[in-house]
Amino acid sequence: MHWSPPTPEEQVRFLRNVQRLLAEGLFTASYKFALVHALADLAVLKGDDSGAPLPIDTREIAARFVELYWRQTRPFPAGGAAEVVLLQNAGRQAAIVSHIAAAQAASGGSLFRFRQSAERWGGLVAEAERVVRTMPLWKLQTVGREPLVFLYANTGRGRTVTLLPGVTYCLRAFYELVRDLIEAAWVRFVQRLNAERLGGIVDLGGFLFGEGRTSLEEYRPILFAVQDGRCLYCGDQLPPSAQVDHFVPWTRYPADQGHNLVLAHDACNAAKSDFLAAERHLASWVRRNRMRRAELEAGLAAAGLPGDGPAAEQIARWSYRQTAAANGQVWVSGKELKPLTANWEECLAAMPPEHEHQNAPPD
Ligand SMILES: [Zn+2]
Repeated sequence: MHWSPPTPEEQVRFLRNVQRLLAEGLFTASYKFALVHALADLAVLKGDDSGAPLPIDTREIAARFVELYWRQTRPFPAGGAAEVVLLQNAGRQAAIVSHIAAAQAASGGSLFRFRQSAERWGGLVAEAERVVRTMPLWKLQTVGREPLVFLYANTGRGRTVTLLPGVTYCLRAFYELVRDLIEAAWVRFVQRLNAERLGGIVDLGGFLFGEGRTSLEEYRPILFAVQDGRCLYCGDQLPPSAQVDHFVPWTRYPADQGHNLVLAHDACNAAKSDFLAAERHLASWVRRNRMRRAELEAGLAAAGLPGDGPAAEQIARWSYRQTAAANGQVWVSGKELKPLTANWEECLAAMPPEHEHQNAPPD
């Protein structure tokens, strides 16, 4: 079957429908936000830009739910008295949040460590999957009493949903926009549900979706080693206090994991800001992750930190492709920006097989 990307008119209609869903959909729990968020994330991670439909396993959606809710379920420092777990449902706490709160209590709060037991992780995802399949999946595409079926075929109760033709394309093309819309709506929803308990003005957005700066410290020694103590961007020697930076910026895709993190000077990091890095930086990053893969992954494993090389490259490939399609600019150094050229594709091309085992010990 030959697919083609949606027309400009179809893309605008898609965005109108997302707005309509968020404005008119009835939300008693935050699950619907989580569902759209999860579908957008999975479109980036698993989809392509051909316009083709994309089948997604409900278990994958459930796993993404757990990841999204995990940080939101940490006790919120409400000021003054006790810390609270934020309500995500009008009335009784949302079932997924209760399951995750119990899992956090049993595991000291680290999702990565919790995942290391396949049994515990599988059990939690199965609970979440039950909720996903009975609650938001079959109710999301209803606004008021009207069906608004534009994201996925909603015909059965199987274990797969299929994003309709053109939807994966649109979710990838407008990922940042859609994510901002969902997160802003989700923050307002949680703010309203918890107004009494929160009292004054709090940075709920930062708590629910912000980057976890402090936890990145743990990555520093591992990155320092695989970069030989040098800044990924300018190549100069780093001080011990060097900053941990998201190579694909957090604002473009929220990926806190070793392969997407780099060590850089404060000044280089601040200058790069939320830009994508120019092709030569991309080449350095790919080289570091591929050539020092064994060392990087051993370091992450020893420290109990997450890392996923293929996912990091998939996210980078998506992000550079979208930036190229938008004629976007990339950061070179200092205040210098330049248009992204097609050379980025080469940087991310599959590695020639003779390099695969370059770091393997001799026989
Ligand atoms: Zn530097």
